[in-house]
Amino acid sequence: MREVAVGRQLACQRHALRASTVFVMALILSIVCYTAPTGGARTFDIYVVDVEGGNATLFVSPSGESVLIDSGNAGPAAVRDAERIMAAVKDAQLAQIDHLITTHWHGDHFGGLAELAARVPIRNFIDHGPNVQPAPVADEFLQKTYPQLYAKARHVVAKPGMKIPVAGLDVLVVTSAGETIAKSISGGGAANPYCASFKPGENNAEDPMSVGTYVTFGKFRTIHLGDLTKNKEFELMCPTNRIGTVDVLLGLHHGVDTSNSEVLVHALRPRVAIMNNGTRKGGQPEVMTTLHSSPGLEDVWQMHFSQLSGQEYTVPGLFIANLLDEPLAAMPVAPIPSPQPGPGSPPPPVHNGTAYWIKVSAQPDGSFTVTNSRNGFSKTYKADLRRGAD
Ligand SMILES: [Zn+2]
Repeated sequence: MREVAVGRQLACQRHALRASTVFVMALILSIVCYTAPTGGARTFDIYVVDVEGGNATLFVSPSGESVLIDSGNAGPAAVRDAERIMAAVKDAQLAQIDHLITTHWHGDHFGGLAELAARVPIRNFIDHGPNVQPAPVADEFLQKTYPQLYAKARHVVAKPGMKIPVAGLDVLVVTSAGETIAKSISGGGAANPYCASFKPGENNAEDPMSVGTYVTFGKFRTIHLGDLTKNKEFELMCPTNRIGTVDVLLGLHHGVDTSNSEVLVHALRPRVAIMNNGTRKGGQPEVMTTLHSSPGLEDVWQMHFSQLSGQEYTVPGLFIANLLDEPLAAMPVAPIPSPQPGPGSPPPPVHNGTAYWIKVSAQPDGSFTVTNSRNGFSKTYKADLRRGAD
């Protein structure tokens, strides 16, 4: 009996030992699991905010640092647009905007800046330098308001080749004040076959001054050129394509036809283009044709349905973030031409109600997901290994 009891005791001790070993291992495992890096799940996010045919594009790095490109419209729309940008700032849980790039001094790009600065701290103000297209609203803003906004922050005049420091991203200025980056960046430098058929376009004075920004996150690449016009697109992309290719082409000067030449769009070979057009601004047939025929382009996403596209040139509603306050039951197939500008010209269809953004979430392997916040439609673009050799 005693032997049996001893045997039981030994077995029990072995059990206890095994149990304690299992416990210790479980403990170690739980500690390892607990301290395992969670960075793999963090994405580079881009919010394309609806500012009715102006621009406001918010970059949020995986480290939580932010770059905002432009701040929406001036005048009565400034509060509306600042609030719409703030909705994205809150969604991204930002306490401040680290860098604000004003691409150029047109009211649809700097207009909401004072209202925005009253709502969230802005740490660094970046622009191309003085306004070169005299205009009362811009000139007064630059003389009186703007210096007060950056007095307690930083103010930097962008030069091509300048890097904007954001942890986890590579943010490079490629155009500013009419100058373009002198050397090809990594992935660029090939001859651009579209240069031979380039047709120059008309410019105003400020659009060609736009600060253009190229961002990489691992293998993911995107570019936003403000309202850079065709002639500057040519200088940037010809005779050699200094940029290479991108995954996502942002902005597109609202989709207007004084920009978006083939030397830019077709040579960049974007997989996705996200156009910051308005209800009657941009999305013209020429631009939509250039986009839809761009090699390797998978989808165009639009901020708005544009009357200038009509059904003939637009994309399916799934890819359109915003409609009108009073949506039409049906849109004609043919584009609705823009009325003659002038005092009697009817205003574009109104959209002051709820605004929706298009959000891009990119992974370091180059894959990315685009989501339309109006209808929840989302599409993931897998990393394209063939593009690594571009
Ligand atoms: Zn503009």
